[in-house]
Amino acid sequence: MPLLWLQAFNSLMSRFICNSGTTRSFRRCLCTILAFAHPCLIVRPMMLPVIHSQAWLQLNNLFYLKSLGKRGAINSLHWVLLLLAPLCTAAQQEEVYSRKGYSLRFVSNDALLDPVVKNRMVETFFDLYPELTRQYNKYAAREVIFVVDTAYKAVAEACGGRVLYSADWIRRYPGDIDVVTHEIMHIVQAYPDGAGPSWVAEGIADYVRYIFGVDNEGGGWSLPPYSPEQSYTDGYRITARFLLWLEKEEQRGIVKKLDEHMRNKSYSDSSWKELTGKDLNTLWESYTRNSLIY
Ligand SMILES: [Zn+2]
Repeated sequence: MPLLWLQAFNSLMSRFICNSGTTRSFRRCLCTILAFAHPCLIVRPMMLPVIHSQAWLQLNNLFYLKSLGKRGAINSLHWVLLLLAPLCTAAQQEEVYSRKGYSLRFVSNDALLDPVVKNRMVETFFDLYPELTRQYNKYAAREVIFVVDTAYKAVAEACGGRVLYSADWIRRYPGDIDVVTHEIMHIVQAYPDGAGPSWVAEGIADYVRYIFGVDNEGGGWSLPPYSPEQSYTDGYRITARFLLWLEKEEQRGIVKKLDEHMRNKSYSDSSWKELTGKDLNTLWESYTRNSLIY
């Protein structure tokens, strides 16, 4: 909704400027700025933070300078964007929720997003995120953005303080609510570049989903039992089950320690020996010999 208001405001401003008595170059300058405000509304929501970056300002400036030699080009572009923007923003919704020092901005371009599922996603965030930050990383982002995008074809991904969800996945698997749990753990992890292998990051996120998930059963999600074709480097549920076994059989608290090592970039193969007294392959071998979890 705020984007629609911005759109209306821009349209009104454009008319005002075109009818005002200012100089032509000044009008053209302002029209250029307004014209480039519209791509902010047209591009996929996942790009919004980028739009506000310096890079876009630079691009706008460059385009404006180039356009000075082409009379009328900017005005035509302006009107095309003006016409396209309402079509592209019609379905876009944005809401902000704040509770106990945490805020969630929820952006969706899916007009068919089930409000019940949306509400469940919001509730899951506020149920779990504060607790996960308390247990794993108290410096994790306080403001998080959820983006539901009809154009996104994978399931979900987290980057910085933002989680991108596939609108199609949510529609097909509305019960898979704990995809939220997995993704918000990635925000809590906040691992820097080069922190360590992705199988560790994904294994920890699925371990947390197993422990904290609000309805893994309803989502048809569980940890698969050990089988010989598995490897600890598989990540996700395979690694998560291995971590669960380690917590129970070898070293309670190892997941939090590994998470810390990843975040402060001290993770290496020797982290396992440091934390348990045994190297990773030895631990995995013990797991394969008796993988029951009590
Ligand atoms: Zn993940």
